[in-house]
Amino acid sequence: MPVTVFFAAPPRLWPLYAPHLCRALAEAGVDAALTDAAPDPAAVDYILWAPGSTLTDFRPYTRAKAVLNLWAGVERIVGNPTLTIPLCRMVDPAMTDSMKEWVVGHVLRHHLGMDAHILGQDGVWRHDDTVLQPLARERPVTILGFGELGQAAGRALASLGFPVTGWGRTARAVPGFRCLHGAAGLEAALAGAQIVVTLLPNTPATENILNARTLALPARGAVVINPGRGALIDDAALLAALDDGRIGHATLDVFRTEPLPPDHPFWRHPRVTVTPHIAATTRPDTASRVLAENVRRGEAGLPFLHRVDPARGY
Ligand code: NAP
Repeated sequence: MPVTVFFAAPPRLWPLYAPHLCRALAEAGVDAALTDAAPDPAAVDYILWAPGSTLTDFRPYTRAKAVLNLWAGVERIVGNPTLTIPLCRMVDPAMTDSMKEWVVGHVLRHHLGMDAHILGQDGVWRHDDTVLQPLARERPVTILGFGELGQAAGRALASLGFPVTGWGRTARAVPGFRCLHGAAGLEAALAGAQIVVTLLPNTPATENILNARTLALPARGAVVINPGRGALIDDAALLAALDDGRIGHATLDVFRTEPLPPDHPFWRHPRVTVTPHIAATTRPDTASRVLAENVRRGEAGLPFLHRVDPARGY
């Protein structure tokens, strides 16, 4: 009897995922009936879900063993009171590579002063050999959220010479990094940082973690790079810090409201760069293998990978 896998993510994603999911489930040795057409809820074994899904009431899915989220972030589903079965988030090496590349690219843009040197194509030779461009080893970077994505970005930056501090909720030792944690470690993690990267999940504990108080801690003119979630930053406090020069630039991939509304001040601020939530989009080919592996595990009675702790919210 095949297991029923219900693709309950937004319909535009079905043609992208269906062939990869079919292949990955077969390769995982799972006899599966994969469907995007709302089946009898009581016959569904696994639910594949993503923000924008019309499925919001999980109660009728009485046989389902797990909800497998297509996104790494789960803030749009983890608090759903009808969800009582295991929820797994997406951790995929290709998504991790994508985030690593996006972070390194945007860090290097600011580190190398690319805007000043590349955009000024106006015939003015700005060479001044009395002003030295700092080396990576002279540019401390702090990463708030030192999990899968934060550590991958940190390793890439450290390989270029940046001194990286990683901050998380719990104590951890990662060779080659200064690791801090908890409320007590936040101030030290931010103090003097020249580049701050936020890769935290959106939970009640992380909302507005960058606010008027914490935005005053990095070095004057520091750059904030946020590919985590919009709610991590108090927008008004960031705009005030940009206006008075405490923060030199903000590169933002994620926002409280997405798409970012056309009248939001971030669009027009000269020291804000907006990218449209593209840092690490889930990739159907590699993500399908992760999803299929979790279905296989569920059928084999093994623990699911990347299971979310609803109490923590991530
Ligand atoms: P992860 O492996 O779960 O890592 C999360 C990190 O945040 C961990 O270091 C965790 O600390 C820390 N953390 C959580 N709550 C905290 C708190 N209250 N105080 C201090 N640290 C806290 O997650 P991930 O895979 O790296 O993903 C991180 C986030 O990136 C996702 O949640 C999502 O919002 C975002 N994301 C964005 C994109 C994009 O395209 N822009 C794509 C994918 C993901 P502990 O380990 O100590 O608990």
